[in-house]
Amino acid sequence: MIIVPERAIPDLLTRDASYRAVENVFAAMASGDAYNFPVIREAIGHEDALYGFKGGFDRVGGSLGLKAGGYWPHNLDKHGIINHQSTVFLFDPDTGMVRAMVGGNYSTALRTAAASSVSINHLARKDARVMGMVGAGHQASFQLRAALEQRPFEKVIGWNYHPEMLSNLEEVAAEAGLPFEAVDLDGLAEADVIITITSSFAPILLEHHVSPGTHIACMGTDTKGKQEASADLVARATLFTDEVAQSISIGECQHAIAAGLITEAGISQIGAVINGSHPGRRSADDITLFDGTGVGLQDLAVSAALVDLAVEKGVAIEVDL
Ligand code: NAD
Repeated sequence: MIIVPERAIPDLLTRDASYRAVENVFAAMASGDAYNFPVIREAIGHEDALYGFKGGFDRVGGSLGLKAGGYWPHNLDKHGIINHQSTVFLFDPDTGMVRAMVGGNYSTALRTAAASSVSINHLARKDARVMGMVGAGHQASFQLRAALEQRPFEKVIGWNYHPEMLSNLEEVAAEAGLPFEAVDLDGLAEADVIITITSSFAPILLEHHVSPGTHIACMGTDTKGKQEASADLVARATLFTDEVAQSISIGECQHAIAAGLITEAGISQIGAVINGSHPGRRSADDITLFDGTGVGLQDLAVSAALVDLAVEKGVAIEVDL
């Protein structure tokens, strides 16, 4: 078995490798070559932790396995380690033997950023120039850095519930040599692309905040009850997601579905656009919305790429099990 330790991963995993792994697995999901297993998520009644498993099988990419982990809210205060903790286990699909154990913390941020990037690449207008951000926490920096590679953006604008965190976005914009402007929610109408990445449980982005032609990637809503975009806005947009079952139950579309404003049939897999079986954006005025709920196959795809990179660079640890 190969072990790729968490500490080795930031030097191994590139945004480019993450993008390719996620784009390929989204395509495989849409063509029926890959599927996710039902998600298990449990409040374990210890340390207020939420623990669970996300798994799947990609017949084309050859990835079989699961990500185990969750959220321990007291980690930082008590132990000085991050609250989100996860590890990916990969198995040989031909024999069932365990193939690899890969740290899942850093790669979760890169695979999540890759998902919104894939959506921007395939759904945003080619002439998109203003990048808008809602959210400025840990994931937001990764999201913004990856998004800026998808179009020749000229400016970044952002809003956050905690305005003091906006400097995180300003730093990433500066890295890319772009100006950053803090805006109120109405100011987001200037954006051609908007990423939402918050832990909000109430709508932030409303219909009148978004101009025709905008592409929105809603990335923060991954649990029942969370919400970033109003149900009206969701109903107005052409809808795409990683996985429809998750979109309507734990993703951004859950609220518009519950309100009867949209149906499951109105949500398309982003993989269908990648495969060319869905045209994607139909006009320059379309509002497209990608509901990125986060699937286990993304973790497996990125981790499989990491195993190859670790072997190639000589940092993989091999053990007999
Ligand atoms: P974080 O704690 O670092 O940042 C939280 C963000 O939410 C900050 O911008 C904060 O200001 C904002 N926020 C907090 N309370 C708010 C409120 N009441 N209203 C509006 N905004 C509020 O978290 P993070 O690691 O950046 O994660 C952000 C979100 O992304 C979380 O909800 C997390 O579960 C989700 N996430 C999704 C995926 C996926 O695949 N879709 C993957 C990882 C994380």
